[in-house]
Amino acid sequence: MDQDKHTGLRTGGCQCGQIRYALTAPVVDLYVCHCRQCRRQSASAFGISVILPADGVRLLQGIPASWSRPTSTGDTLECAFCPTCGSRLWHRSARDGTFSVKGGSLDEPVDLTTASHIWTAEKLPGVILPERAACFDGEPPAPSLK
Ligand SMILES: [Zn+2]
Ligand SMILES: [Zn+2]
Repeated sequence: MDQDKHTGLRTGGCQCGQIRYALTAPVVDLYVCHCRQCRRQSASAFGISVILPADGVRLLQGIPASWSRPTSTGDTLECAFCPTCGSRLWHRSARDGTFSVKGGSLDEPVDLTTASHIWTAEKLPGVILPERAACFDGEPPAPSLK
C-alpha cells in the first residue's frame, strides 16, 4: 500500500507493520545524512531525512515509543520508533515541530536523485557521493533534524 486508499496520501510504516502513518503536506527538503548520529540511528551507512512541516505527519495506526536527545544546533529531537520491531520512523523538533521522516520507512521508494548530501565530512570511507549532488561538509542552511 503506497497510498492510503481513503485519502490518497503517501504512507509509510515500521518493519513489522504495527505503526502506520501518512504524509499530510508536501515534502520540504530531502537529505542523505552521513553524520555519526544518523549512522548510529540507522545502524547503516547514512540516514535519509524527508523533511515535513509541523502538521506534515498523521499517525494512522499504532502508538510509537519515543526518546529525546539534544542536537548539535541546540534543538531537542523527539525520536519516534516502533516499540515492537524498533524501526525508527521520524524525528520531531521541539523548537518548531517540524518532522524528519526516516526515508526508508515510506512505502513508495524515496527518489534520492535530488537529495542533498550533508555531514559529508563524517561519511564512511568507500561511500561515493553522486557527481551532481549538492554536498555540505556539515549542517546545511536549512535544518536537517539529524
Ligand atoms: Zn514495528
Ligand atoms: Zn545525520
